[in-house]
Amino acid sequence: MKNIFGITLKNLEDFFIENNDKKFRATQLYEFLYKKRIYNLDNMPNIGNKNKELLKNNFDFSFIKMKKKQEDQDVKKYLFELKDGNFIESVLMYHDYGISICVSSQVGCNMGCKFCESGRLKKVRNLEAYEIVEQILLIEADIKERISHVVVMGIGEPFDNYDNLKDFIKIVNCNKGIDIGARHITVSTCGLIPGIQRFMEDFKEINLAISLHAPNDKIRNQIMPINKVYKIKDLFKILKEYEKKTNRRITFEYIMLEDINDSKECAKELANLVKGLNCYINLIPYNETENIEYKRSKKVQILSFYDILKKNNINVTIRKEFGGKVDAACGQLRANQMGR
Ligand code: SAH
Repeated sequence: MKNIFGITLKNLEDFFIENNDKKFRATQLYEFLYKKRIYNLDNMPNIGNKNKELLKNNFDFSFIKMKKKQEDQDVKKYLFELKDGNFIESVLMYHDYGISICVSSQVGCNMGCKFCESGRLKKVRNLEAYEIVEQILLIEADIKERISHVVVMGIGEPFDNYDNLKDFIKIVNCNKGIDIGARHITVSTCGLIPGIQRFMEDFKEINLAISLHAPNDKIRNQIMPINKVYKIKDLFKILKEYEKKTNRRITFEYIMLEDINDSKECAKELANLVKGLNCYINLIPYNETENIEYKRSKKVQILSFYDILKKNNINVTIRKEFGGKVDAACGQLRANQMGR
């Protein structure tokens, strides 16, 4: 049985029509689920008994389980247990501009980035759309507030789970659903070109972030094996097309790893690489983890890297640090839970 929280409004409308009822029944149900946040069919007075039966017989209304929560001043980290016993995590962050949630899109990840906990543990399976949606519903229920921004930057490679990602985005963005504006939704990828191609056809308004982490193939091959398949040149070719098609600014994430990608030469090379593209670079101080030997770049090194990009007129920021104390680097909470 399909879980109701993974069903787009359009698919729900089709369902009612197929069952000889009216399309607006779907909107009615969506209102209860996403506006009133009532999840028990028995507490939905407008839905007739016949439709309650129909829905109960066709959809699962159950939730994933919140297993653990770690809190710090402006960040909360959640561990969820899925029905099959797998674990995923999400991070909530309070910013000046609102509240964001970083959601997971897979159990583990197959991209194998050398610096990343999730890559170390490999992909177990894709998340269903409902398992991504429910991360948001449960966290909003926990903080008793609505969030303003969603980033798909947790465990997993979203473009390696494109179809479910697509339904998730539709449900989150739908004005009758969770209703978060397209400009407030960001998907982050390690650079899967076929995914970027589909994304720019399907979602011209949603933000795209690219985990770049290196200014050339030599370094990128070393830390991100996916670069052997989708090289920087090809990646930038598609990003040019993306820019033309969507007119949107692309975000590049660049983790600062000591003695790997943080030299002055790297900064200059990076400036040249992105020159002419409407983009901005987010420098991310690496979150060190016990199991991986990479070190975070020294502060002075990050600042001098930043200066070089600035001098070259590149839009650049250094990411505010969240969650150092709460295992907030991608996949750390899950890895700890699994004792690995
Ligand atoms: N697979 C997608 C999204 C998940 S990773 C992607 O590659 O973009 C989300 C971001 O966290 C990526 O930029 C990833 O490179 C980064 N990341 C992973 N481990 C990290 C760590 N220990 N410290 C800082 N950033 C990390």
